[in-house]
Amino acid sequence: MKIQPMLFICTVSFPPGLYAQMLEVTPPQAERPPIIDIHVHTMRLGDNATMAPLCPWFLEDMPGTDPKTGMTLPMGSGCVDPLPAARSDEELQSAFMETIERLNITAVAFGDATVLHRWKDAAPDRIIPGIGVSSPDDITVEAMRDSLETGFYHVMSECAPQYNGMSPSDTALDAYFAIAEELDIPVGIHMGTGGNGMANIRGTKFRASMGNPFELEDLLHRHPNLRVWVQHAAYPMIDELIAVMGWNAYVFLDLSGFIWSYPLEEIHATIKRLVQAGFGKRIMYGTDFIFWPRMIEASIGVIETASYLTEKQKRDILYNNAARFLRIEEMLPREGG
Ligand SMILES: [Zn+2]
Repeated sequence: MKIQPMLFICTVSFPPGLYAQMLEVTPPQAERPPIIDIHVHTMRLGDNATMAPLCPWFLEDMPGTDPKTGMTLPMGSGCVDPLPAARSDEELQSAFMETIERLNITAVAFGDATVLHRWKDAAPDRIIPGIGVSSPDDITVEAMRDSLETGFYHVMSECAPQYNGMSPSDTALDAYFAIAEELDIPVGIHMGTGGNGMANIRGTKFRASMGNPFELEDLLHRHPNLRVWVQHAAYPMIDELIAVMGWNAYVFLDLSGFIWSYPLEEIHATIKRLVQAGFGKRIMYGTDFIFWPRMIEASIGVIETASYLTEKQKRDILYNNAARFLRIEEMLPREGG
């Protein structure tokens, strides 16, 4: 999700036992098998930030409201152990670096360029930088080409035309995706879910319809060698995503965003459906990490505790699929994740 924390609407009633169980599944270990988190935001917090804590899977109840009363966003209440947000850029970086080192994570990261360079300097073998475009107003085509040709960036992400009410197949973005195809750079496109209550809070240009995976078809037709991953699994448009992935073997997906925000049963039903439909080799783990360091462990726990997945399928989701999609040995030749 390309989100701001205040965009969610929620009330929470999370079962405390299950919540505790989810957070205890990734104890520190000396050697852990590698994980790729393909969806990490580098955000600027500033000093003395006061982001609200987060209850994972808090969108369990979305009762709606009335324009007269407006929206309330208690995303950090109703669970026994809300995840605290970092309070400064330094704290965020330090907690993120400690976590990815301890859990043996390689992160595909994008967002604020200054923060991204800092993180890359701090962990050169664990950070794969990306640069996104969501509208021609963000960056010129020439600047995008220049950026990608520096060699610093290895993916084009997060591309979120949906937030501007645009389809990914909008011809205004075509020149950018043509560069990605030419340079053989994977492209992450935001699709599907986009922060509950956004229409009520910001009068946003966001359109749910522009996140339909069928909106990819013209783009993929114009660029047959483009390597696209559908971010957030285009949740909840799973049937459409399955249709597109069946049609085009180069399309992968990530589980970011909804993996820590939607009801757990819904998350598991979605993953199970995708595996059942035959796409277990194209599901990639991702968080949509923003400000809450422990969100990483909570999200990994969803995969590690999935009773319907074999150990091999879990490894595919947590690492193997993304390693193959990204061709990680080309991106991190010395380390390989
Ligand atoms: Zn997104």
